[in-house]
Amino acid sequence: MIKEQIDFYKNEIRKISLACGRNPRDIRLMMVTKTIDADRILEALSTGETLIGENKVQELKEKDDKLKGVDVERHLIGHLQTNKVKDAIKYVTCIQSIDRFSVAKELQKKLRTRGQKMDVLIQVNSSGESSKYGLKPEEVEGFVKQMYEYDQLRVKGLMTIGPLTGSSSKIRASFKLMKELQKKLQNMYLPEMSFDVLSMGMTNDYKIAIEEGSTLIRVGSGIFGERVTKA
Ligand SMILES: *Cc1c(COP(=O)(O)O)cnc(C)c1O
Repeated sequence: MIKEQIDFYKNEIRKISLACGRNPRDIRLMMVTKTIDADRILEALSTGETLIGENKVQELKEKDDKLKGVDVERHLIGHLQTNKVKDAIKYVTCIQSIDRFSVAKELQKKLRTRGQKMDVLIQVNSSGESSKYGLKPEEVEGFVKQMYEYDQLRVKGLMTIGPLTGSSSKIRASFKLMKELQKKLQNMYLPEMSFDVLSMGMTNDYKIAIEEGSTLIRVGSGIFGERVTKA
């Protein structure tokens, strides 16, 4: 069942990207495993897919033992509180949810102590919905320039959550704005930073996201089924 769903999304990536003139290899599939227990995660990883996303540090910690020795790349995709930073950096290779200086500063401090670097994405609120975390699009340029202070962090790109709406034109507008922001940052002189990763698209809007330039889609319920508890 999980395998069939993973195959479905891999095929979707191929189909949609080819139809819009993109290379399927430029789009990664992230399996979002929040609320999913370690055994089902292991089942998903047995397909050969390796990228998973969690949105809570607590869950990363709880499932860590069972994932020892398994070929897996874990990213944090949920909001990160500064008091969780110390734990978070033990489990993930990328934090996709950098949205304020206080968290960058705390990461810098804790990473430095461990002599560790961390890939990060800047989270952008591209929909304008007040319930969403993330920088306003117009704040991003100034923010990344300040990121040079935090040299344990390696900026790799941008992340966004599309608007919660049935309107595909609103979703598309939001993703287009992200693509434009990415291009703008790529054309600026920002040495040692890269903006190649554009993490956008989930179960309900991955198709539009791929068409608009996503390089990483984050699929949870589409692979594992509807979540019982809301996370
Ligand atoms: C839960 C979650 C997803 C996956 O959502 P689905 O709709 O289940 O695919 C993707 N990104 C983030 C940040 C999430 O919290």
